[in-house]
Amino acid sequence: MYLSKLFVPITKDLPAEAKIKSHQLMLRTGMIKQSSAGIYSWLPLGFKVMKKIEQIVREEQNAIGAQEMLMPTIQSSEIWKESGRYNDYGEEMLRIKDRQGREMLYGPTNEELITDVFRSSVKSYKALPQILYHIQWKFRDEIRPRFGVMRCKEFFMKDAYSFDLSDEDARKSYNKMFYSYLKTFNRMGLKAIPMAADTGPIGGDLSHEFIILAETGESKIYADKNIFKIDLNQYKFNDASLQKMREDFTKIYAVTDEKYKEVDFNKNVKKENQMLTKGIEVGHIFYFSDKYSKPMNCLIDDKKGKKTSVKMGSYGIGVSRLVGAIIEANYNDNVMKWPKTISPFDAVIIPSITKNNKENLEKAEKIYSELKKQNIDVLLDDVDENMSNKFKKHDLIGTPYQIIVGLKSKGDNFEFKELNSKSEILSLSKIIKKLKK
Ligand code: ATP
Ligand code: MG
Repeated sequence: MYLSKLFVPITKDLPAEAKIKSHQLMLRTGMIKQSSAGIYSWLPLGFKVMKKIEQIVREEQNAIGAQEMLMPTIQSSEIWKESGRYNDYGEEMLRIKDRQGREMLYGPTNEELITDVFRSSVKSYKALPQILYHIQWKFRDEIRPRFGVMRCKEFFMKDAYSFDLSDEDARKSYNKMFYSYLKTFNRMGLKAIPMAADTGPIGGDLSHEFIILAETGESKIYADKNIFKIDLNQYKFNDASLQKMREDFTKIYAVTDEKYKEVDFNKNVKKENQMLTKGIEVGHIFYFSDKYSKPMNCLIDDKKGKKTSVKMGSYGIGVSRLVGAIIEANYNDNVMKWPKTISPFDAVIIPSITKNNKENLEKAEKIYSELKKQNIDVLLDDVDENMSNKFKKHDLIGTPYQIIVGLKSKGDNFEFKELNSKSEILSLSKIIKKLKK
């Protein structure tokens, strides 16, 4: 992509409510545009990043055997009345009527809808276990939408639902998802802490929030630093190993303020390992047994032919929130650096261009087509502007690698720079090798 052709409407005057870095940066680099309070359009740069996050989430869900589907955003109130949540959910739910006067709603989550899908088609334990998921827009009429895409009204979420015959089997599904979440966040270059959490209006007895560390986070966290020393690679993908994994993580003290008690913290964690910081919730998993299947009559025949309520869990990841959260976790001193797996571009070519000298631009275009041939997603800054402005701009956009075509480039050798480190002079073939790694 040529920068001159890319639709990146830079916002210079930031709105007063843009208080945190990710919100400011997403506006300044034209990743998003607010359409009304808590509701955003995703412009090409932001959309590209979100799609990469979505794809990692999808691959890691598929890897544990979860199956992708798509449920609608608009739901009928009937199923919510059956579960008893229609009144409980309160004002966060956007309620609407269709032209026949039927009560509808914009889904804030999908436990009821998936239970309805499941009960009409699955009748026997033989079809279990199942994990289904979709990646779909949700709407919650948050009382105070803020921090850009981190707490908005309309947001993009992956939500998965597991169905099992017994409580014991359901906990195996829970462990798989726990594992999948840790792998997902690792691939995005994030350190996520799973924390025992309250189950809130979703209900149930087993729940973990996945929190990444960031000063601007809304959750206060109290944890033992040793939690970061657990290596996920030591676990195998089988029930016993995954159970061991969850136990290893849960043994280490890590809680949000809801569960924090000073005495417990001091008793369980040595002073030098105590970590008291803030974090952003990027995922939340629940096991709630028959909380929905019972009132909604989602029954299956067990091994003896007896009808029993299916045991369910639900598992959410804030895909759109992650865009902001990753920025918060990586932004430093006016320089953004995307993790390579998420970056909107793999590399940017920055030629020094003046009105009278287009030689560097021509060289840059040659490099561009060479990299394109190699399937490297590259941005070419073909805008006629001084180099210091260009560098500032690319520090903001945060592409992890720069190829600078200017004074230091000679013949087939160019200045190559990984953001936040020193540049080196390399031949084009060496540059390609590095980028391909
Ligand atoms: P929070 O406590 O932050 O409101 P929640 O517990 O209500 O989150 P869940 O119902 O568990 O959230 O939703 C799953 C995930 O969806 C959350 O972990 C978060 O990443 C994301 N999410 C929830 N609410 C919002 C929102 N208003 N804007 C953006 N993402 C959200
Ligand atoms: Mg909430």
